Amino acid sequence: MAVATIGIGANVGDAAASVERAIEALHDLGPIIARSSLYRSDPWGKRNQPDFTNAVARIETSLPPRALLVALQAIENRLGRVPGERWGPRAIDLDILLYDDLGFEDELLRIPHRFLFERAFVLVPLAEIDADFEIWRDALPPTELNTVERIVARSE
Ligand code: ADP
Ligand code: MG
Repeated sequence: MAVATIGIGANVGDAAASVERAIEALHDLGPIIARSSLYRSDPWGKRNQPDFTNAVARIETSLPPRALLVALQAIENRLGRVPGERWGPRAIDLDILLYDDLGFEDELLRIPHRFLFERAFVLVPLAEIDADFEIWRDALPPTELNTVERIVARSE
């Protein structure tokens, strides 16, 4: 079994509900061994669109990386993702952030994810579930770090 770390984002409709449904759907691919809180983040790349809800989940899976990507795309489709513009609004986005300690790149897949070490909406939730990434989160410029905040449930 491999350990895969999945980045989840949504900014269409009830984005928080979509992220939770995506985490539910990840159960089909293998046991979930960790998940972050939900975070609100500023839209990245294209600014004039709704805020994103983001989270990170870690699963144990027997799927190799390419099959995992296909399975994630099937979940995206099931949860209502339609093709749209790059960095534009999306019902759900599931990215492979890490896969064991694999480094891999072809036209369809790059692991670790290309923006893993640059984006606060990835590193902040990731550091919540894996202390090894705190050093990377803390290396982000404050202007980037400030684009993300944890969504605190009212009962907390
Ligand atoms: P975004 O870059 O915002 O996630 P998309 O979700 O539309 O954009 O992804 C575009 C393409 O990125 C996918 O078709 C996929 O082949 C490719 N890709 C490359 N590396 C990865 C990765 N680690 N995880 C998910 N998709 C990836
Ligand atoms: Mg994606």
